[in-house]
Amino acid sequence: MAERRLNVAIVGGGIGGLFTANALIAKGMTVSVYEQAPELGEVGAGVYLTPNSVRQMQRVGLGPAVEKWGARVGPASHYFRHDGTPIAPVQVTDSSGWNATFGMHRADFVDFLAAALPAGVVHTGHRGIACEQDGDSARVKFANGEVAQADIVIGADGIHSELRPFVYPPSNPVFSGTVAYRGTVPLERMPDWPMDRWQMWLGKGKHFLVFPLRAGKIINYVGFVPADAEMKESWSAPGDPDMLRREFAGWDPRIENLLSKVEKTFRWALYDREPMPVWTKGRLTLLGDAAHPMLPHLGQGANQSIEDGMALATILSRTNPKNAPAALLAYEALRRERVASVQRGARENGLRYDSMTGDLNKRDADLRAHATFRKKLYDHDVVPDAEAAALALA
Ligand SMILES: Cc1cc2nc3c(=O)[nH]c(=O)nc-3n(C[C@H](O)[C@H](O)[C@H](O)COP(=O)(O)OP(=O)(O)OC[C@H]3O[C@@H](n4cnc5c(N)ncnc54)[C@H](O)[C@@H]3O)c2cc1C
Repeated sequence: MAERRLNVAIVGGGIGGLFTANALIAKGMTVSVYEQAPELGEVGAGVYLTPNSVRQMQRVGLGPAVEKWGARVGPASHYFRHDGTPIAPVQVTDSSGWNATFGMHRADFVDFLAAALPAGVVHTGHRGIACEQDGDSARVKFANGEVAQADIVIGADGIHSELRPFVYPPSNPVFSGTVAYRGTVPLERMPDWPMDRWQMWLGKGKHFLVFPLRAGKIINYVGFVPADAEMKESWSAPGDPDMLRREFAGWDPRIENLLSKVEKTFRWALYDREPMPVWTKGRLTLLGDAAHPMLPHLGQGANQSIEDGMALATILSRTNPKNAPAALLAYEALRRERVASVQRGARENGLRYDSMTGDLNKRDADLRAHATFRKKLYDHDVVPDAEAAALALA
């Protein structure tokens, strides 16, 4: 049993950092979150949550907030060819039939993750720039001159992580050649749009995704298209709605109709990284996109960061400050292969979605068969394995 509770510093107040703070506090640890931005916030776009992470949010008491702010995606979810010809249903449950898949507005998500934390846990305006450590503790230095000391530091500072180089030599992100246009349309502008489903249309080199947010009041769309020039990875580069409309001109009239209502859109150039062989150095470890940025073609980046957070909290709850570095290595060992397989799966699925894997009949057959992969992905419960890893350390 722990001799005293661990004191943990999390650098990065995004989805991964804020969920992890909730999970660590639920296990009785002392936590501070340091976010570079002057206030917490997120862009106007959606994120898809799946049973493998919703199960963990329920465990730390966030289940009612997920139900309240999310929009449940049900069995009418479907893949279509670009012209609207149906291909296959989309797997929206785990193997037991549990339907815990939700569209969530990123801003709602960050708001309720932060609201669930005790006052004083989150420190905005703190950009972590370095991490030093000795045998007993670690220190994060911030650009504002402050220093925070903790038993453990978690770098949850996203794909551009400034703490990653303190763990592993710098490397370049890998550009996928694809850009995602993302945005939302209020339901009142499109009152007939069905809000109980996730729908995707697939064409050569492009695909288009729509799912509901905020209890079905907001329609979220993502249009994936080839990039003409390598664009800077960014969360919020404004896009041109007319260019977006041109990209999908001649597709299913449902898409053209929805895009006719778009007034504002944002573009993301999609990058990932090769799986990293090391996430941890002494008392510093990485989590979420800092450890394993992935392409969005399985909708798993945020879901995997939640699995990371729950695994880490479960293992750390059974350790003490002296043994914390061994506990961090156990977390890394538990997570690295699972996450690498999801990173690879997201790349493969992107090729499938963009119809780059062979003839269309084969692509359609692959999509039907993909339900098996999704069930396995959604069935995963990180907690029993994390408990076993923690017991093995004791
Ligand atoms: C087009 C697109 C669609 C996606 N769709 C989905 C989806 O449907 N489902 C899904 O699960 N995932 C999806 N993702 C992936 C998901 O958004 C990310 O994996 C997830 O947000 C990662 O969370 P994070 O907390 O690790 O990083 P981030 O969300 O990037 O958060 C990092 C935080 O750290 C802060 N920060 C950065 N540097 C510092 C610093 N030096 N010091 C302090 N703070 C710092 C940032 O300001 C930010 O708040 C999608 C991604 C893209 C690009």
